[in-house]
Amino acid sequence: MIERLVVAIDGPAGAGKSTISKKIANVLKLEYIDTGAMYRALTLKVLEEGIDINDVDKILDILAKTSITFNDNHIYLDGIRVDKEIRENRINLHVSDIAKIKEVRREMVKIQRKLSHVSNVIMDGRDIGTVVLPNANFKFFITASVEERANRRYKELLSKGEKNVNYEQILKEIKERDRIDSTREFAPLKKAKDAYEIDTTNMTICEVVNKIINIIEGR
Ligand code: C5P
Repeated sequence: MIERLVVAIDGPAGAGKSTISKKIANVLKLEYIDTGAMYRALTLKVLEEGIDINDVDKILDILAKTSITFNDNHIYLDGIRVDKEIRENRINLHVSDIAKIKEVRREMVKIQRKLSHVSNVIMDGRDIGTVVLPNANFKFFITASVEERANRRYKELLSKGEKNVNYEQILKEIKERDRIDSTREFAPLKKAKDAYEIDTTNMTICEVVNKIINIIEGR
């Protein structure tokens, strides 16, 4: 019998990890931890403070003085809720450069492991099954073609009423984020050997959620 349920979800940008993880968390009563949001929050702080994204020492200094916490599925940066701000495009453009810094990752992984000890959890990111929680009970690697991921993002932005949305630009940005995330030296995006890989290109969110829950429940 499993004492504590720990589920790791990894995959590239726009594959639907967070939407899927939230739904699974809801059904299986798990705590959801969005590790991408943590790298995004640090990026927000670095940009707000006007720090050069190549200045590793300053970034580490800022990280040491920064509090990144979750409460009720909301993320707080130094006590201020920043759910919306961390999704802005300026963050998309810089987050992977900050996330590739070894010392930043070391600190983030420490916090993520601590958070995971609290309860039954589902954690999503890029290195959860490989580095953060290598002993997770279940690991999933969620993918979709890059065109489909860009298309989902495009539709999402349109549905939010955003103007000036350009599919080609989104496609280019996602490809660039994929490139940095999968070629970086430390904890690159890759499927853990023991992860189930699910290509969601032609699947609905509901189908993916059901597939994962069926695997977890051993059906
Ligand atoms: O998942 P999301 O797209 O919000 O993640 C934003 C970025 O944070 C990723 O593109 C990646 O550069 C970084 N990230 C990471 N490791 C994680 C989660 C996110 O490097 N575990």
